[in-house]
Amino acid sequence: MDLRKVCAVAVNSVLLLALFCAAVTPAAGDETAPARDPKQPVDEGYTAKIKKYTTQPYFISPLVDYLPASKNVPTPEAVLGDVAGAPGILPYAEEVYKYMRILEKASPRVRVFSIGTTEEGREMIAVEVSSEENLKRLEENRARLAKLADPRTIKLDDAEADGSVAQAVPVYYITGTIHSPETGAPTALMELAYRLAVDESPYIREIRDGMITLITPVVEVDGRDRMVDIYKWHLAHPKDFYPPLIYWGKYVAHDNNRDAMGVTLKLTENVLNTYVGWKAQVLHDLHESVPYLYDNTAGDGPFNAWVDPILTDEWEMIGWRNVSDMTKFGMPGVFTHGVFDTWSPGYLMFIAAMHNGISRLYETFGNAGSDTKERTLDPEDYARTWYRQNPPLPKTLWSQRDNNNYEETGLLTSLHFFNENKRLFLKNFYLKAKRSVTKPSAEGPAAYVLPADDPRPSLQAELLRVLQKQAVEISRATAAFTVALPAKKEPKSKKPQDANEKEAAPAPTTREFPAGSYIVRMDQPYSRIADALLDYQYWSPDDPQKTPYDDTGWTFGELFGVQVTRVTDAKVLSTSMERVTEIHGPGGVKGDGSVFAINNNAEPALATLRYRLHDASIDAAEEPFESGGKKFNRGSFVIRNATRNDLDRAAADLGLQAVALGSAPAVKTHPVRAARIAFVHTWLSTQTEGWWRQALDNLGIPYDYISTQTVAKIPDLNAKYDVILFPPVGFFSSPTAIVNGLSTAWGNPLPWKNTPETPNLVGKNDSTDDMRPGLGWEGVERLQEFVHKGGVLLTATDTSRFALSLGLADGVSAGSSDRMKIVGSVVGTRLVDGESPIAYGYDEQLAAYCDDGPIFSLSSISGGRGRRRRLGGEAHTRPTGRGTTNDPDFTVGRPTAEAPEEPEAETWENPPVTDEQRINGYRVIPPTDRPRVIFRYADTKELLISGLVQGGDEIAQHPAVVDVPSGNGHVVLFSINPVYRGETRGTYSLVLNTILNFDSLNAGRKLAEK
Ligand SMILES: [Zn+2]
Repeated sequence: MDLRKVCAVAVNSVLLLALFCAAVTPAAGDETAPARDPKQPVDEGYTAKIKKYTTQPYFISPLVDYLPASKNVPTPEAVLGDVAGAPGILPYAEEVYKYMRILEKASPRVRVFSIGTTEEGREMIAVEVSSEENLKRLEENRARLAKLADPRTIKLDDAEADGSVAQAVPVYYITGTIHSPETGAPTALMELAYRLAVDESPYIREIRDGMITLITPVVEVDGRDRMVDIYKWHLAHPKDFYPPLIYWGKYVAHDNNRDAMGVTLKLTENVLNTYVGWKAQVLHDLHESVPYLYDNTAGDGPFNAWVDPILTDEWEMIGWRNVSDMTKFGMPGVFTHGVFDTWSPGYLMFIAAMHNGISRLYETFGNAGSDTKERTLDPEDYARTWYRQNPPLPKTLWSQRDNNNYEETGLLTSLHFFNENKRLFLKNFYLKAKRSVTKPSAEGPAAYVLPADDPRPSLQAELLRVLQKQAVEISRATAAFTVALPAKKEPKSKKPQDANEKEAAPAPTTREFPAGSYIVRMDQPYSRIADALLDYQYWSPDDPQKTPYDDTGWTFGELFGVQVTRVTDAKVLSTSMERVTEIHGPGGVKGDGSVFAINNNAEPALATLRYRLHDASIDAAEEPFESGGKKFNRGSFVIRNATRNDLDRAAADLGLQAVALGSAPAVKTHPVRAARIAFVHTWLSTQTEGWWRQALDNLGIPYDYISTQTVAKIPDLNAKYDVILFPPVGFFSSPTAIVNGLSTAWGNPLPWKNTPETPNLVGKNDSTDDMRPGLGWEGVERLQEFVHKGGVLLTATDTSRFALSLGLADGVSAGSSDRMKIVGSVVGTRLVDGESPIAYGYDEQLAAYCDDGPIFSLSSISGGRGRRRRLGGEAHTRPTGRGTTNDPDFTVGRPTAEAPEEPEAETWENPPVTDEQRINGYRVIPPTDRPRVIFRYADTKELLISGLVQGGDEIAQHPAVVDVPSGNGHVVLFSINPVYRGETRGTYSLVLNTILNFDSLNAGRKLAEK
């Protein structure tokens, strides 16, 4: 809008006009100046407090240095008792909602919607702010946006799209405080909603009239309420240390912003549904961990390979303009670029990037609460760099109000810029959707096919349901069909050396898929997310980005253990097929008889069945068998004492196929029991174990959730439990930290319990009077006793390291790598001992999630450090002496002595015990007590499936899953993390098999002779 017009409208006197225009920040060209409407009165009291709580005059902008007054609409003070960002004020989610609903009542420009509930039953909301006119025409507008969102509805007609582009009002969706210790967004968004509803300045009016701002002020509602509890506790005990926020949501902490692939958390699902349902163009997520405003939408690279280049351009366009606008306000420390890489699509904001919108993210600077604090930065945070010409100050007094000023100013300038260019962005929104629909003929593929005869139908159904949560359409072939598959390219090194060896280039092949196979068509608007999840990832070790921000690989077909075929042959799209809405693996009982069998293909649903049919007797076959013309794998269930009805209902529900047999198969079996499980957590960090808790809860497997402190207090663990799960700790997880906990030598107790001051802390999780004590040496002893008396202890990654460091298992050591870099990648593992119950249902090859090990090495000598894989081909060359390479040496003056053959073993096998070691061999671990390797890492060349694997030879061939007998019990050690972010469902059964076969883990075990 023309600046002169604004001023003319605002002020009558020519003299005043000149003064006013000189006072505001000049805007370029014909853009509207960011300045208040002088005719609209200011809320003087509120405005004075904004200024009072802002610690430096340059930590504010002309957009937020005042609050317009309104006769009808209450300011945030009505609920907060002070202004947004005031020291000592941190509202619960409920209070934020209360204010938003007051706004809704008082202003026709505000509406509040419930968008779902959290795991703990708290409400999530979205607040819509726009002009009365826009709100009246909401459905009409949604219909316009829907045409752009799904160009198939207008037959990809650009002219018709342009009509909608010209008329539609875009939706800009802002989400606050997904990360609970990042506390500022709710008050900033309360005030933002007020400003957008009330302010009559041309700058704000344009936003209100031109677009719909959608706000979810609190994303992690459960965590918000815990955080406010802690803050209030801190206010009541100002001299004490306050407990760290160990739980955010019910399951995970910081990782709640890594769930946008698996969509396992309610908050992800609710935001995704809102984003997709509203056909929004932007999802802008607010965080607070970098001074003072880091727009980390656009990163340093590598960018996610599946995003549209139109989007990467939009990131830069909006991001740099944002920096520019705020720099002009004189606000220091506003920058974009930086360390973020934009590779993983797991972030909440990436819902937009993967659904044809624009993902955005701010890191502003928070104080984890609303105390005003002197903050000193690290040198790298205040250094001036090419992308941060006006860096933050090395040291400053910083308030929650300062943070709110930055958040609101950034959002308002973004909203305004977006509105100014909304036709461009709406057209882009359409183009990105159109390019998603035309994917089969553009870059491909045409479809992904999941065959009807996959041996893991229940896991296949789970994967398809994830895609459905992502708003991806799934179809099913109504007849068998054949597609051409491209020829496999041979690696360069395998090329024939000379002309004689020249072979014909590998020819394209075809594959037939049976009727009922699932087809994920790529000619649909949300093909992008399906492609990103189902495809393979490759992160080059030579990439200039040396510190990936998050996981580098995630291929869902591999991690779910189901077959997914990428089909480029466009013919697949003309296959006869129908859309499916409900996806359910086929299940139930077939055949006649009172004994039932279920084939074991390592589907987690088998464990659910075991716990659900508590009165049935279930056995596992220790060998494969055939019955009634059907083949059953080792580990298959043989079920007795269950009524056909009960089994049929459960199997149908779980997508498992049971077969009634005339008689029980003549095969060796052992009972599969519903083990009593203790699930152990520390008070150091709970996030990584949270994914395990979530998996068990979803599977309906009961457990006692106890802390390391409780372990130390239970005198006889075996009387209560059969299996102790000690999942990864994550941060602060050294063995000594697990034993010692936090120091009690100083400071005050850190209680984690519900009190009148902290009514929300515990939820359904655990509590303690003092978070500081760890497992203690008594706890270590209890665990050791538990195992020796016959219990099973299961550990993974850092807790495996803990178990090995403290000698809970012998014959295995956990080493660290020197050069290896496996950063959240999908790697290959190989079956070593298929007769172990832990391996029941698995094939020879298994994909697993690995994040740098640890590297297990085996030893047959007690306390031995184990043996690393011999690297390179130099290890077996002969010493210097007479003869050629393969000749024996000689000694002058005596007959040649024949050297005994050196015993050899593969890296994953127990090293053979030498004759020398056996002399008085009290340290030789007897064969019965030696580790039994179930899975090992693949060879170096086959290690990488997806992501980054560098220096993989250090871990290649080393054990990945080991069962170590210890006394009468077992310690089962994982180097991979089998349960992670709801993405690794193909490896869940390694854990579940251990649980179900806890008292028969030695089944099928073969012992070394000596
Ligand atoms: Zn954050």
